[in-house]
Amino acid sequence: MRFDAVIVGSGKAVRMGLDKLTLSVGSDLILSRAAEPFAAHKDIDKIILVLRKDLFGIGKGIAEKFPDKKFVIVEGGDTRTRSVEKGLAEANSEGVLIHDAARPFVSGEVIDGVIESVKKYGSGIPAIPVADSVRTVKGGRVVGFPDRSEMYAAQTPQGFVTEQIKRAYALRGAEDFSDDSAVYARFIGSPAVTKGDERNAKITTLGDYFGLNSKIGIGYDIHRLVEGRPLVLGGVRIDYSKGSLAHSDGDGVVHALIDALLSAVGERDIGNLYPDTDPRYKDIDSLELLAGVMRMYKERNHKVSNVSIIIIADKPKLAGYIPLMKQKLSEALGISASLIGISAKTTENTQTEEAVQCCAAALVT
Ligand code: MG
Repeated sequence: MRFDAVIVGSGKAVRMGLDKLTLSVGSDLILSRAAEPFAAHKDIDKIILVLRKDLFGIGKGIAEKFPDKKFVIVEGGDTRTRSVEKGLAEANSEGVLIHDAARPFVSGEVIDGVIESVKKYGSGIPAIPVADSVRTVKGGRVVGFPDRSEMYAAQTPQGFVTEQIKRAYALRGAEDFSDDSAVYARFIGSPAVTKGDERNAKITTLGDYFGLNSKIGIGYDIHRLVEGRPLVLGGVRIDYSKGSLAHSDGDGVVHALIDALLSAVGERDIGNLYPDTDPRYKDIDSLELLAGVMRMYKERNHKVSNVSIIIIADKPKLAGYIPLMKQKLSEALGISASLIGISAKTTENTQTEEAVQCCAAALVT
């Protein structure tokens, strides 16, 4: 079963007082971040961007990043319901996913769950249990006490059989609905629920945007320097008579950075992910290990906002290598070199054994 994705980003962000879709989150705009996991998905053929006219340029920029994918850009309507309807008119795969562009942290796992549910049950609505006690209030008085165990918050993408959701929309007349599951429930049937994700929250306030989704991680590494080994730091071969004693290439900068990236998203450390007893990692280029972590980041829709690194070694002098390290790490992390800080320090010759120590901090969303 093949799918199209309708990404709705046509509303005005009145609550934030600024245009949330064009704010950057890490190194991307919120709009691109919300659309790209769909563009990269193997089961999705076409991306239908429903946008305000002033966002068409951003839409075209997203399309250019995915030359193998079909893109259609449609102007939105006055209401969300009307915007979705205009997007659905362009959908012609058997299934369709409808996603709000104000949810930029949607993961591959949530999308896969919705797709599986549509294949099995004809619909899929990601939802999470509501943590607060929900009350019905009328005229300033609490009048209803719904059972919290039955309360869920619906997220997007919401998935359907294209022909069915189109039929539901055709039957709606001029009525407005807050989401697609409500249109489907009214005219077709009760939609199936799939596992939502706390991270897949809708960005509504400045607090959501600036604070809640940023996570910090720190990492540390040390390698003894010995004769007969190459010295590689930050993906750059350093000209020196000694190198790191290690199972891999001993790139302490990349190892500390990997630990910072894993730590930020609550994962265990590099030694757990890439054990030094595993012959596959013997003398491996540590940038390949970092690429593996970045694939995991991509799958979960995590991105790096910036990183900050300290290298501590009495010898050799490293300052001249820093621009090249920044370039290598910029390519590996997919962020501008200006978002990577590297400083080199000495221990003032206080250490009895020669070694390189590295510390890294990473801010990610
Ligand atoms: Mg190491």
